[in-house]
This record gives sequence, C-alpha cells and structure tokens, in this order.
Amino acid sequence: MSVETIDTLVIGAGQAGLAMSEHLGNAGIPHLVLERKRIAERWRSERWDSLVANGPAWHDRFPGLSFSEVDPKVGADDFPAKETVADYFEMFAKKIAAPVRCGIEVLKLERIAGRPGFRVETSAGVIEAARVVAATGPFQRPLIPPVIPAEAGVVQMHSTGYRNPKALPDGAVLVVGAGSSGVQIAEELMNAGRTVYLSVGPHDRPPRAYRGRDFVWWLGVLGKWDAAAQEPGKEHVTIAVSGANGGHTIDFRRLAAQGMVLVGRTDGYADGVVRFAPDLVENLENGDANNRALLDEADAYVARNGLDLPEDPQARQSVPDAACVREPLAALDLKAAGVSTIIWATGFALDYSWMKVDAFDAAGKPRHQRGVSCEPGIYFLGLPWQSRRGSSFIWGVWHDAKYIADQIAIQRSYQAYDASCREAAPTPEKARAQA
Ligand SMILES: Cc1cc2nc3c(=O)[nH]c(=O)nc-3n(C[C@H](O)[C@H](O)[C@H](O)COP(=O)(O)OP(=O)(O)OC[C@H]3O[C@@H](n4cnc5c(N)ncnc54)[C@H](O)[C@@H]3O)c2cc1C
Repeated sequence: MSVETIDTLVIGAGQAGLAMSEHLGNAGIPHLVLERKRIAERWRSERWDSLVANGPAWHDRFPGLSFSEVDPKVGADDFPAKETVADYFEMFAKKIAAPVRCGIEVLKLERIAGRPGFRVETSAGVIEAARVVAATGPFQRPLIPPVIPAEAGVVQMHSTGYRNPKALPDGAVLVVGAGSSGVQIAEELMNAGRTVYLSVGPHDRPPRAYRGRDFVWWLGVLGKWDAAAQEPGKEHVTIAVSGANGGHTIDFRRLAAQGMVLVGRTDGYADGVVRFAPDLVENLENGDANNRALLDEADAYVARNGLDLPEDPQARQSVPDAACVREPLAALDLKAAGVSTIIWATGFALDYSWMKVDAFDAAGKPRHQRGVSCEPGIYFLGLPWQSRRGSSFIWGVWHDAKYIADQIAIQRSYQAYDASCREAAPTPEKARAQA
C-alpha cells in the first residue's frame, strides 16, 4: 500500500497551526494540517462558558481577518466571546483555504532511517513528511499539583473542567491560582453568590486600561510584547487580567473588600485542613508594585512623546484592606468552611510524548532557537516565549509562524540544490527575498 507523502506536516489546527498554514501557503510550500478534533478545539470545549478574549478585538487577531468580518456585532474594543474566537479561526481557515484535516490524531512521529524525513503515525494511517511543525499548543496537559488527595471528600477539577457556577455542587469554593483564569473564575463564582477562597501566588496585574488606552496598547508601545526574554526571577509569573463584562482591572484588594477571601499559596494538606504559605501580603504588594511600575512607564511615555492622553488618577487608587489581608488565614478546614469544590487554575504542562525524536531537554521541553528545533526538520510553534512575550498569543504566533515558514523555505532551497541547474535553482537568497 502506498504511503501518503507531504513536504511539511503541521500538527494542530489552533491559531498556531492556522498561522503556519497561511505562511506556508504564501511561500508555496505544500503542506497539510492535522487536527485531532475540530479547528480551535480548545476555545470550544476546554474553557468555561462565559470566557471572553483577554484582549480587545482590534488587537487579539491575525492581520488578514477582523472580528467584525466574523460577527458584525463585535466592535473593535469588544472582548469577543470564546465561541466567536473559535468561529474566527474557522472562518480564517476557510479564507486562506487551509488544507486542514480534522478528526485525525497524530499518535507517533519518528525519523525515517537511512533517508530524509519523518514517519508520522496517525489515527487514519501513516504519512511521511520531509518536515514537521508541532503546533499542539502552549497549554497541553492540565497541571494539578499533588497537594490534596483525591479522597479528601471534595470535588477537585482543573480550570479546563470548570464550566459555570451552576455546574458545581452547592457550597463554598477554593480556587487555587490567581492568574487570568483563576481570578476570572473566582469572580464569577463570587458574583453568583458563592463563598470563594482565592489562593494568590506571585502575579503581574497590569491595569485593564490607563489614560484611555487598553493595556495591550501600552505593552505594545512600550515594547513589552516583543521583549525577547523574561526578567530574571519572573520566569513563571502569571498575568491577572480580565475582559469579562467589558473588561476591568484586577485589584485583589477590591475583590477582598467585596467578600472574596484571599489566602496565600496553597502548600499543604492534612486531615481535611488545607495549609497556606505566609506569602499573601508579599504577593499582593509585588502585584501592586508591578501595576504601579507600568503606570509610571506609561506616564513617562506620555510625557516623552507629548501625547494628549487624559490623566487617570483613579488607576492608582485602591481600597482599605479587608480582614483576610490584614490577618491572612494560615489554614482552612474544608468541611467546617463548607468547601465543596476546589478548582485548580494552576496552569499546564507541555506533552510531546508522541514525538520520538531527539528534540527535548531532560525536562521534556523543546530544545530550539525561535522554534527551529535542534533536530533538523522539526519545528515548534506557539510555545510560551518562543521568540518573545507575545509568542503564545494570537498576534504573536502569527509572526513566529512567518519566521518558521521562512526557515523552511531556506532549507528547501538548499535541499533543491543541484549542480546541473544551480543557476535556475531557488537560492537561499531568493527564498529569503520571497519570504
Ligand atoms: C483560558 C485561556 C484564555 C486565553 N485567552 C487568550 C486571549 O484572549 N488572547 C490570546 O491571544 N491568547 C489567549 N490565550 C492563549 C492562547 O491564545 C491559547 O492558549 C491558544 O489556544 C493557543 O493556540 P495554539 O494554536 O498554540 O494551541 P491550541 O489552541 O492548544 O491548539 C493546538 C491544537 O492541536 C491539537 N492537537 C494536540 N495534539 C494533537 C495530536 N497529537 N494530533 C492532532 N492534533 C493535536 C489540539 O486539539 C488543538 O486544537 C488564552 C489561553 C487560555 C488557557
């Protein structure tokens, strides 16, 4: 039986796989995109019902398609609902005629012995590809730290499993993790009348907007989305922002004043009692300092450039500390507090266990340079900080995909080298100029 062959195989049809397809198509590179479920599946089935994009429609998108083309009701400053984001990617795939095959899972990838290329085993048969782009996402496997045993007598779920307040058993909820997912879920539960405990670790919390501009604009003009490396010591710091209900700044002290019980990092459990680290105040203070630093940088930018943007003194105001901040809880007896559910908004791990190639470090992380793997012919796309801070976001991945398509075109031109026709052969320079 003949085996299907393709030049470049892209695995995953989320934003990364589709951006890759656009740039490969533009460079005339034959390719195929395999998706185990549906296009933009994570936005359809792995996020809670009320989720909206964290960035406004004018910003969190690809250059070639606006959200208003998908749904005319979405204004440029709106935060599109998750279904609209998924529809956006479906429409984008149609617009660029992306060669996507859905419902096909890649099970195994290995190098072909003795000749170039890779053998890719899928749920629908084998494909051979000269190169492979792994676009399976920055957030692949939900991570729950092994703190509270399954038999603790409460429902435990990762944030990917949360849907809405009504879907949870009655009772109080402990949300662990105060990045964008954790804080948005905690706020939704509090607004639905639940008693909520929010376990707050280190975080950044930019203002939603300042002096009339959304924070995505500030991070852009201040060059922060394009920053190539994380500040030392800030490698794992999550951003707490929200586009919910039109968008608002996350101010943990304000949430505490409204009734949310803030606690430090969740770091232990015994006999029905969860213990918290004594770091709540420090985490809040660091978050506040991060917030103020951005406001200061924004003010300096306004002054330096003589911009006419309105003053915004409210952005620097907060509220008096609630009791949970003045005297943080060291422990919580789950039963006595009526906690029925724990939601772990504690992030994700990468999982490339299906890739049987020498492209990973001891921790299983891809070894790469801007997505070009140390294993020739393998590329990664959509990794956090792949080339810049914006790499795992919609607009950032598009730029990384462009770079990878460029690298693939250059490699193809070298491989096409033939002494008898080198005058006509596509030189690396031509490939670079075309890319
Ligand atoms: C709650 C949440 C909110 C976010 N909000 C925003 C936002 O507002 N703006 C923004 O820019 N970013 C946002 N992000 C970040 C980022 O945009 C998303 O995580 C996005 O889904 C990443 O896209 P991706 O294509 O890289 O990966 P994914 O969306 O994860 O796509 C990978 C695809 O690969 C498929 N796949 C995986 N393994 C296989 C396999 N073996 N075979 C075949 N197919 C496979 C999956 O089914 C999936 O469809 C958010 C992230 C989260 C978690």
